[in-house]
Amino acid sequence: MATLFTNARITTMSPIRPHAAAMLVQNGNIERLLDSRPTGLAKDVEIVDLQNAAVYPGFHDCHAHLADAGLLAGDHDFGSCRNIDAMLRRIERLDDPILYAGNFEEQRIDERRPPNRKELDAVSPLRPVLLTRIDGHSCAVNSAALELLGVDGLEGVERDGEGIPTGRLSMLANYEAQHRLFAKLSRAALQSAALRAARSALAAGITTLHNVLVGDDSEDDLKAIYRASAELPLHVIPKSCSTNVQKVKKLGSRVFGGDIFVDGSIGSRTAALSSPYRDRPGQEGRLYLDRNQLFELFDEAVEARLSLGVHAIGDRAIDEAIAAWEKVVAKHGALKDIRPAIDHFEVTTPDHIERAGRCGLFLSTQPTFDYLWGGAHGMYEERLGDRARGMNRLKSALRAGCVLCGGSDSPVTKLDALLGMHAAVNHHEPDERLTIEEALRAYTSDAAKLAFEEGTRGTLAAGMRADFVAIEQPLESMEPSRIKDARVIATVVGGAIQFRAESVA
Ligand SMILES: [Zn+2]
Repeated sequence: MATLFTNARITTMSPIRPHAAAMLVQNGNIERLLDSRPTGLAKDVEIVDLQNAAVYPGFHDCHAHLADAGLLAGDHDFGSCRNIDAMLRRIERLDDPILYAGNFEEQRIDERRPPNRKELDAVSPLRPVLLTRIDGHSCAVNSAALELLGVDGLEGVERDGEGIPTGRLSMLANYEAQHRLFAKLSRAALQSAALRAARSALAAGITTLHNVLVGDDSEDDLKAIYRASAELPLHVIPKSCSTNVQKVKKLGSRVFGGDIFVDGSIGSRTAALSSPYRDRPGQEGRLYLDRNQLFELFDEAVEARLSLGVHAIGDRAIDEAIAAWEKVVAKHGALKDIRPAIDHFEVTTPDHIERAGRCGLFLSTQPTFDYLWGGAHGMYEERLGDRARGMNRLKSALRAGCVLCGGSDSPVTKLDALLGMHAAVNHHEPDERLTIEEALRAYTSDAAKLAFEEGTRGTLAAGMRADFVAIEQPLESMEPSRIKDARVIATVVGGAIQFRAESVA
């Protein structure tokens, strides 16, 4: 079965043939690119008129959490609640037997904090409630959740003057609480949440998504999740964050990690910094893995021919991760079969950037972080002061020779690649702004390299998968300040239209 997608302004992202006007697709792959609609086509070729839309390779989201994104959508997204009362009323309305909701941000709540344990108990005395902070690196729980999840003895349980838990969890207590709560949800519930998120990714033009699986699950559970990923309507690359390399090897994928935590987050003040937080003197965050532990992990992965990325946000964490990769390069030479990565890579020095470039690091970045929390009076400045100006140095990293890959870290930010590109092009620091072409590469051709898929995805050419997005008008011709408003008309995965905007016939 062949389909001709015609009447399009196609940007292939391939230097060999940068533009075309039509595309013949067969069995999910691009058969050939054309400059116009051909004559003499076989009768059974389906014709799809793209109505002069701008077509790009389907966008990649190189770091997202599908099930979490689906679970925290709609009414379970408390991001719009402006005060504690609104959050409590929302909790009363939702009837889940175990309530997992959240995405709160202190600076958007009148009281500048989430509800505490007592306030949560008042509206939910028996049912467990866990509200995540938007970054996922801390949460608020009620007494029933604290009891059910059994994290009381772990690091990160906040306590009042009398030693009683306030309900606020961070660090290990937070990660364990969330992981144990997930384990209580049925596989069907998690898969339907993943499907919901997959649909919204498709509506945003995303055709490939790295599904980062936080925590460590059993081999059987991981195998089930990997199998279920293949049933979703876009190309999903599941990535276990287990540090057990031999177990990961059995999953049959060449890439893993993404959120193997070297540190926490800026928002939760757990990202490992080299000097204290501005708004919490004396506190420098938390380092979970040092360079020696990371080297051991990286080295074992390289020996097993597996690529991985680790989560590093603060400068102290990034320093450890780079040092570990440097040691791997010193031992193994240039890493040709490996795509060494650091995910997030937010608080850096020029020295970090230079060393990351020399190692040929892949940086799985989230430009939307700068859009939401960068700039004067932003959350990053509140936490870090002037150091915030050296965050998310996209252009510097590109200049130094790093491979930039784009992602959302959804549910931390929306599954929205156009917003990510918008953020990269309109970075708060003018020196760190990408051109729209560079931003596109980070979400298409360069992104595909992170999972060794540049031979099948990320560009449009004969023989490649027919994964593409149709947008109302070319991004290159838009005002940079309007890129986030570009409208996706259709999203095609393996030649099949998986999303179509409603007003289009
Ligand atoms: Zn992360």
